[in-house]
Amino acid sequence: LPINLVEFCQDLLDQLQLGNEAKHKLTLIPSDVTSAMLDQQLLHGIISNLIVNAIKYSPNGGQVTLELECRPASEGDKEAIFCLSPHSFFSNSYFTNINSLLLIIRIRDEGIGIPETEVGKIFEMFYRCKNTGKIKGNGLGLTIVKKAVELQGGAIACESKIGIGTTFTVALPYVALSCKTQRPTT
Ligand code: ATP
Ligand code: MG
Repeated sequence: LPINLVEFCQDLLDQLQLGNEAKHKLTLIPSDVTSAMLDQQLLHGIISNLIVNAIKYSPNGGQVTLELECRPASEGDKEAIFCLSPHSFFSNSYFTNINSLLLIIRIRDEGIGIPETEVGKIFEMFYRCKNTGKIKGNGLGLTIVKKAVELQGGAIACESKIGIGTTFTVALPYVALSCKTQRPTT
């Protein structure tokens, strides 16, 4: 079933804000896309894991932003997104359906950041960065997120600066539904 993307994301942020003692400001920057054919459970897993990380690795609070963008996918997309930053690390999936739309989800925080030498390892199972200190975790969240993104033919990248913050960019292809002829009524 199609989901209302903006409503879905706002509900998710509201839920996470309730469980968070308002140290962080969670903001949604919506796109004009409303209805999308996407797997609701996978999308929930992807976004909630990334936002929980953004909160967890921003011990001093700050702004956490969830930004949605929707545009047609093109053949050069893998390269185009890769060019966002020389420090981007992408999964190996390709956007095979070039007629599809791309949903771009960006999750940005003002937290501790990820050391440059470790950005390439964070999607590995059980990997935890050396600067996490007393912040607890299993190192599994991002492995699951990457799998969920790849299951849908998408890609994920991370850009980060120590002490400034981190941005995760997820690109998910999805097919827009259109109907030219009306179903015959009998
Ligand atoms: P869990 O399995 O509970 O999610 P985790 O948060 O340690 O544990 P991942 O979500 O896989 O595991 O993240 C892997 C590592 O990447 C983290 O341990 C942390 O070092 C780093 N990391 C992930 N997200 C961020 C972020 N937003 N800011 C800074 N570091 C991050
Ligand atoms: Mg995590």
